[in-house]
Amino acid sequence: MPLDLITIPCLTDNYAYLIRDRATGQTALVDVPEAAPVLAALAANGWRLDKIFLTHHHDDHVQGTDELVKATGAEVYGALADVHRLPPLTRALAEGCEVTVGETIGQVMDVSGHTIGDIAFWFPSARLAFTADSLMAGGCGRLFEGTPATMWASLSNLAALPEDTLICSGHEYTTSNLRFAATIEPDNAALQDRIAQVASTRAAGVATVPSLLSQELATNPFLRAKLPHIKASLGLTAASDAEAFAALRARKDTF
Ligand code: ZN
Ligand code: FE
Repeated sequence: MPLDLITIPCLTDNYAYLIRDRATGQTALVDVPEAAPVLAALAANGWRLDKIFLTHHHDDHVQGTDELVKATGAEVYGALADVHRLPPLTRALAEGCEVTVGETIGQVMDVSGHTIGDIAFWFPSARLAFTADSLMAGGCGRLFEGTPATMWASLSNLAALPEDTLICSGHEYTTSNLRFAATIEPDNAALQDRIAQVASTRAAGVATVPSLLSQELATNPFLRAKLPHIKASLGLTAASDAEAFAALRARKDTF
């Protein structure tokens, strides 16, 4: 893998991610819930921060940015659609833009739905995708700004990435996400295995992220809304995929 990855727990249940290009030593951070744990991780590894990539405007993903920029001088990258509500950007990004960490290239994906202007960073050669609150471990973000159709399109694009991509998402919500998933697919053996796995991971105080896309495809109900047996369990046999997703998301909102 051309990038080293460190998962950094922040606040109560957020995650930030440090990535470092092995060839050049250039280092980037995805999201800044707070500065202190990031500075501690940089110091512990003797790394210098060059770039900050922001996924979306919510405070719990950006509020440490100013402090971290002051401390490191890092450049800040975020969505063009969100320049008015993000910290000051060095460069504004949209779907199809490329970012670099040293020699490693990342693709910007528009993953609107949780917010409009939400972006993901996909590094194909490293098999890493930073999805924050769009595709999450066992779930997906709430639809604060986008429609179900918008989120379904975003999730479908993420679902089409190589199956061995590691999904680096923004929160430790996996346990409750899987509890909901089990109400939709109680007979899914892969899901039951994952629930047991996550229970022991959490009991050991370890993060359940990142997760493999192949595991999300097998267990995350929000990627599986298009499957006939899931539509049937929602009483929506004739519904479109986006309609089934909408019903699933609405059900989770009151779960
Ligand atoms: Zn958010
Ligand atoms: Fe969040």
